[in-house]
Amino acid sequence: MNRRPMVAGNWKMHGSRAANAALLDGVLAGLRARSGARASAEVVVCPPFVYLAEAAQRLAGSAVLLGAQDVCAESGQGAFTGEVAGSMLRDVGCSHVIVGHSERRALYGESDEWVARKTLAALAAGLTPIVCVGELLEERDAGRTHEVVGRQLAAVMAALRGSELGLTSLARCVLAYEPVWAIGTGRTATPEQAQDVHAYIRGRIVEGDATIGGSIRLLYGGSVKAGNARELFGMPDVDGGLIGGASLKAEEFVAIVAAAG
Ligand code: PEP
Repeated sequence: MNRRPMVAGNWKMHGSRAANAALLDGVLAGLRARSGARASAEVVVCPPFVYLAEAAQRLAGSAVLLGAQDVCAESGQGAFTGEVAGSMLRDVGCSHVIVGHSERRALYGESDEWVARKTLAALAAGLTPIVCVGELLEERDAGRTHEVVGRQLAAVMAALRGSELGLTSLARCVLAYEPVWAIGTGRTATPEQAQDVHAYIRGRIVEGDATIGGSIRLLYGGSVKAGNARELFGMPDVDGGLIGGASLKAEEFVAIVAAAG
């Protein structure tokens, strides 16, 4: 199955209007400099909410897509102070949104069910959710990686099955395997560790729908750098990366995109 690789940058709570302009210009110039070489990866950048509209203007006319870092689990409009609806993200130019990042799960108490609801809300708004799953270090050490990741994935699949969207809408999602112990720590999963979990995730999806299992893109995230990206992306079930820290440096991010080529 030929899956187009994707590289998405999660800027987290970083940036300013000036810094974002410089970063986006650097990324666009870097990608332009290497375009034409080969059919390349799909590229997404995910700045903080308040900068999305301005980022959309800067990216206009380019192939770089825009994503948000979170979305409200409720659709439409309403009394949800501080929340941002999927329709609003679409309105300002987003095509993608990260849901269930481990920082949201750990720091803001987002449960598997809550992440599943956000996935449905994103899909209902016409966004591509980048759904994050991943185990804690103690869970890995206890040999529970597949169980934890399988549970997180199952919640999303069950919610889709039980909604009018149906399991077929999983085809419109991207999944990101992000072992929590590898995020922002400099300790990357080995390519073999990543492949093992990606193959497990794909297998679980194949059980539900073989076609979707074969075509869905599975990103790896956790301390990906220009220096380790090629090896990770070379694994058969790793279809690109979700990049945190390294997405804040244009040259490094472009080199990672090139590695996903
Ligand atoms: C992330 O937060 O999604 C991430 C992968 O971060 P980092 O690349 O900095 O480990």
